[in-house]
Amino acid sequence: MADEILEAARLIKEQGCVVALTGAGVSVESGIPPFRGKGGLWEKFDPNEYANIDNFIKNPEKIWKAFLADKKAIIDNAKPNDAHKGFFLLERIGLLKGIITSNIDGLHQAAGSKNVVEFHGTFATYSCMDCRKVFKSSEVKVDVAPPLCECGGILRPDCIFFGESINPNVLKASREMISSCKVMIVAGSSLVVAPSSLIPFEAKSNGAKVIEINTKPTCITSSITDVFIKEKAGAAMNWLIDLINEI
Ligand code: NAD
Ligand code: ZN
Repeated sequence: MADEILEAARLIKEQGCVVALTGAGVSVESGIPPFRGKGGLWEKFDPNEYANIDNFIKNPEKIWKAFLADKKAIIDNAKPNDAHKGFFLLERIGLLKGIITSNIDGLHQAAGSKNVVEFHGTFATYSCMDCRKVFKSSEVKVDVAPPLCECGGILRPDCIFFGESINPNVLKASREMISSCKVMIVAGSSLVVAPSSLIPFEAKSNGAKVIEINTKPTCITSSITDVFIKEKAGAAMNWLIDLINEI
């Protein structure tokens, strides 16, 4: 492992212009369960039933009560971990250009990161499905689910559900980030949900080196990954930052 971390630290320091693609694994150490794998949300909930926009529109009460109210409470109380802090430090020392995250928990921003593209939207705000009024998470009470707007409309989180398209501005911002990226760090993502799973391929075809941090190999580990760090994201980022400061 030490060899891989050293190789990754050298690449980051020599090349600069790093972009991170982060997934649910980066927030596991903050107490937010991932979707897939052991302890993942999809062990309890069928994504086609609970994360699909048509089903949410048909029965928002069921989905708020079974799933969204708990997820909101977990995210509202979560704090950034060493992985989020490590990405912030990389940005502060000028090596990280930005982060594209599929996470909707806002923990990169809470750690101080400035340039964050939230590929799947956010749980930090909620919108009325009738009048479109936007509410901060702290203004939304879920003791009675579903939460309602003053107009009587039902609130939804401002993340995308399965069956919805990625916001075109988000696609544009992530393409811009990838276009000049020399090193991509893919951390804590199972890379099974497109189009975010295609981002490492796009970076690689633009000439970027790919560093992967994950507790398990993924579909890119033995193909386009140049350096695989098989480790929890928090520990891996701590080691990386220490080595970057030393070499
Ligand atoms: P995923 O659940 O499919 O995969 C998580 C990945 O992280 C796996 O490859 C797993 O091996 C790895 N992992 C688990 N613990 C880790 C750790 N401590 N360190 C490093 N890696 C670890 O997650 P994904 O690929 O991001 O899936 C995409 C979808 O999950 C997105 O739509 C996203 O919105 C959603 N999601 C987000 C959150 C969040 O905001 N924190 C939480 C759950 C799901
Ligand atoms: Zn309203």
